[in-house]
Amino acid sequence: MTALLEVEDLKVAYGKIEAVKGISFKVEAGEVVTLIGTNGAGKTTTLRTLSGLLKPVGGSIKFNGKALRKYRADQIVALGLAHSPEGRHIFPRMTIENNLRLGAYLRNDKPAIEKDIARAYELFPILGERRKQAAGTLSGGEQQMLAMGRALMSQPKLLMLDEPSMGLSPIMMQKIMATISELKAQGTTILLVEQNAQAALSLADHGHVMEVGKIVLSGTGDNLLHDESVRKAYLGED
Ligand code: ATP
Repeated sequence: MTALLEVEDLKVAYGKIEAVKGISFKVEAGEVVTLIGTNGAGKTTTLRTLSGLLKPVGGSIKFNGKALRKYRADQIVALGLAHSPEGRHIFPRMTIENNLRLGAYLRNDKPAIEKDIARAYELFPILGERRKQAAGTLSGGEQQMLAMGRALMSQPKLLMLDEPSMGLSPIMMQKIMATISELKAQGTTILLVEQNAQAALSLADHGHVMEVGKIVLSGTGDNLLHDESVRKAYLGED
């Protein structure tokens, strides 16, 4: 069986700066796969390339059997790849509900859209309670929920989350991680970029450690969580 996402020898550069230097990994349907690593390792660049926002200088990306190189960012969303970006990028003056609806902009199956809005409110009750309020009034963690909810509104086959725990309190971070587990239990396939290696590896089926544009170590979430070099470098142990 071929994987849902297959990344082969992917290279991405900003001018002369090679930010991603030939990485390969797969995501099978139903899995949570995480990319971990320090600032500047190339994780965000990888997700932005998968979304079609950056063009690779080499390698290939196959998603659901299709070579993504030929597709624009909006077409990639339509193929089923959704991106909840770092820093969230919600529209602060629009209502929470309209932000959610934006995630469905390529769909015209109205009844199913309404069902998915209801599902987002089930997943994140606070968004439902405040649906008519401007999204900018939400806390950082709540905005993260909105960004995830909006990405889910495209009914993705693969949900990419860029640092969902960034800047959140420990309690809010736990909530977000619990939601990711719940989405996984519902069968959502997730590619998770995190600096919080402990949290990400605890829920991931597979993980890859990135350092300066390369994958330096791969394994199951559990193996990496117990790997001595990972513990030293990323989990703050000596
Ligand atoms: P972070 O967690 O800080 O986002 P990251 O692992 O996601 O880290 P990237 O943001 O992908 O890393 O950055 C990878 C490298 O590319 C870094 O050296 C960074 O400085 C560089 N870089 C990122 N964006 C640009 C840009 N727009 N122009 C030039 N260089 C960039």
